[in-house]
Amino acid sequence: MGIVHKRILLKLSGEVLAGKHGKVGVALLKRLAGEIRGIISSACAPSARREGYKFVIIIGGGNIWRYRDNKHLNLDRVDSDNIGMLATIMNALIIENIFNKLGIKTKAVSALSAPAVIDDYSPAKAEKFLRKNDVLVVAGGTGKPFVTTDSGSAMRASELKCSLLAKATNVDFAYDKDPKKFKNSRPFKRISYKEAISRKLGVMDLKAISLCMAKKIPIIIFNAYKKGNLADAVLRRSVGTIIT
Ligand code: UDP
Repeated sequence: MGIVHKRILLKLSGEVLAGKHGKVGVALLKRLAGEIRGIISSACAPSARREGYKFVIIIGGGNIWRYRDNKHLNLDRVDSDNIGMLATIMNALIIENIFNKLGIKTKAVSALSAPAVIDDYSPAKAEKFLRKNDVLVVAGGTGKPFVTTDSGSAMRASELKCSLLAKATNVDFAYDKDPKKFKNSRPFKRISYKEAISRKLGVMDLKAISLCMAKKIPIIIFNAYKKGNLADAVLRRSVGTIIT
């Protein structure tokens, strides 16, 4: 019997990518690459379930540019959003290079067309690529202004029939209040889509949560800075907050 592949949508924000030391945290990326390789090959072990994994990574751009961080510059909104999407292309090319050098078959594509530097995203091409390879990195979010890459991740998870949307963050859980500002903030281990939306949880764009609710795609919010957390989130759903 062949291996059945589940698809995991991994949302990496620019902030997580930056790590603690600047624009791009290469050490973190290398560690995540190793964890992804472990998850992908777990189906090949003799004792393993005949279930494998493929990854669709949606990369943010917040380490370089976000509309909301640059409002004070008074740029045209659409230009500012385009700059943010271009930032995600830079990040995607970095991930593609690092992952391929580590032997993980990875391709970067973009929903914002920039054909001189990166191939365009299309669901049909993504399907074809994922059948043969392991990791597809999608830059450009939705390819349109006024939204964020979280919305892009919910769209791609729906289009590419991912079974889980794993959002990497720098906190352990989703909380009722910002844990960096409020000492008495309460973590959620499990929360419904509806409650997450009504509480306006800051950990993810609410439009993204509502699309996942419509498509019944579970979301897991986990701390990417902790070793092993990606596998615990994806394979065991035993860390972070699960939104269902
Ligand atoms: N952006 C956009 N449309 C999209 C995705 C992103 O206009 O579909 C722009 C927006 O200005 C956003 C920036 O790109 O602030 C970077 O994306 P995001 O804030 O989602 O990055 P992250 O916070 O995940 O690093």
